[in-house]
Amino acid sequence: MSGTLYLVGTPIGNLGDFSPRAVETLAAVDFIAAEDTRVTLRLLNHFEIKKPMLSYYEHNKRARGGEILRRLEAGENCALVSDAGMPSISDPGEDMAALCAMHGIPVTVVPGPCAAITALTLSALPAGRFCFEGFLSTAKKSRREHLAALVGEERTMIFYEAPHKLRATLADLRVQFGDDRAIVLARELTKLHEQVQRMTLAEANKYYEENNPRGEYVLLLAGSPPAVKEPAAGDMEQARALVTGYMEQGIPRVEAVKRAAKEAGVPRAELYKATL
Ligand code: SAM
Repeated sequence: MSGTLYLVGTPIGNLGDFSPRAVETLAAVDFIAAEDTRVTLRLLNHFEIKKPMLSYYEHNKRARGGEILRRLEAGENCALVSDAGMPSISDPGEDMAALCAMHGIPVTVVPGPCAAITALTLSALPAGRFCFEGFLSTAKKSRREHLAALVGEERTMIFYEAPHKLRATLADLRVQFGDDRAIVLARELTKLHEQVQRMTLAEANKYYEENNPRGEYVLLLAGSPPAVKEPAAGDMEQARALVTGYMEQGIPRVEAVKRAAKEAGVPRAELYKATL
């Protein structure tokens, strides 16, 4: 019987966020695949776990993926962790999960903190619909294309950024989305110096021209206001017919317009004018 791959979330700054189930899982598996074994060793030492590790990161994931797969097929259980947060989210993990899924190896998850979701929760921006955009490319062209594709995006957009690239990113966001768009900078989440800055893009650019970016950042950009839909000529015709029908039933014009505008999805004031 084959073993199981456990995708285990690790703290993004506060070791108190490591769940008892995560500790049990790391203690129970046969080996751990870690993005950086030195970083994970500190976590293991803190929780007094001794476990064989191998490194699994962006540049060895092909070869290592095959090796891990063979061990899972032979019946060993493996926990996969990244340096911080959830595996697969701008971190190694998705390829290993896909490889296991392809070969019928059971995959399960021990969820932990994720900087994107932690920041969104704290941001006070609309969280009902959002999109995760990860890191912007460092290559100018694909970076510009990425941002251009987001013009008109109505959902809250979440980006990861390294401190030394923050100024350039804020400048590019301002060019693409304008001075007045709201941005939230969530810094050092769950750590001693956790900070949330709610600003416009113009204010954020000015602030970071005068202050050095420090620590880890998640950027949350407010979505664009919903586009006002021009009612099609047909919709207005349909709405007028509805008004006529309601008024013939004895319903007063104001109420008839209100109902018809809602049903046909046209602006009430415009419909009222059109029926006079
Ligand atoms: N897999 C991780 C997760 O689930 O959040 C993300 C890993 S990604 C390589 C690292 C980026 O996540 C950082 O550059 C930063 O943008 C964000 N990040 C991680 N920890 C953070 C923290 N404590 N506060 C703010 N941002 C953080």
